[in-house]
Amino acid sequence: MRVVLVGPPGAGKGTQAQFIASHLAIPKISTGDIFRFNVSTGTELGRQAKAFMDRGDLVPDEVTIAMVHSRLQETDAQAGFLLDGFPRNVPQAETLKKILIEWEIRLDIVLELVVDDDEVVRRLSGRRTCRRCGHVWHVLFDPPARPETCDDCGGELFQRDDDREETIRHRLDVYQQQTAPLISFYADEGILLGIDATGPVEEITDRSLSALRRFIC
Ligand code: ADP
Ligand code: AMP
Repeated sequence: MRVVLVGPPGAGKGTQAQFIASHLAIPKISTGDIFRFNVSTGTELGRQAKAFMDRGDLVPDEVTIAMVHSRLQETDAQAGFLLDGFPRNVPQAETLKKILIEWEIRLDIVLELVVDDDEVVRRLSGRRTCRRCGHVWHVLFDPPARPETCDDCGGELFQRDDDREETIRHRLDVYQQQTAPLISFYADEGILLGIDATGPVEEITDRSLSALRRFIC
């Protein structure tokens, strides 16, 4: 199955992606995670992306698309994939469509996680990520047993540089201007499905999985 998750920053895409991908036995491909890994390991790709990420702007399309194009050709993505954070604008969506047509495959569904801006700010300002395994926590909504330590692997938790209040507001503007048009793009393609992404994490996972099942049956 080939799935795209779309929604504003903080909607819970990464949180849901880990459960949905493992349930469907497909790899989760998060462009944000790949960029952050490259920034932290000091690669050329990380060097190109860092300033854009720190400001909360999108990394240029040619850099992002080349990275996704190469990731989608890896063996684990041949039987399906879940994209988290890509596409992020209409040109990226158009290019993805062309690539998939060339490979004679298509997306099955685009799942939109719907939450309002106030909830996004609450979620992002308390987000903490494990430096070692990447698990995402929240200081109030999903706190680890010991502050600053990951329950899963004991790794150190950190707050993302782009999760500061001013950058969050800017990322929401970028979402409205550049990413939100994807909603009508995929609605026109007939593969968009919106779900309410407020409430407990497990309920949203159940809602997502039953939406996916309904859509493909
Ligand atoms: P995104 O990948 O869309 O930017 P994340 O999955 O990283 O969002 O979630 C942002 C923050 O919100 C994290 O700290 C996460 O623990 C928290 N979160 C995710 N889902 C929920 C939820 N249903 N209720 C409350 N907090 C949530
Ligand atoms: P995320 O982890 O999805 O919140 O992404 C963090 C940051 O990575 C974004 O604010 C962008 O700077 C960059 N990024 C992630 N995905 C993309 C994309 N598809 N296109 C451009 N930039 C991206």
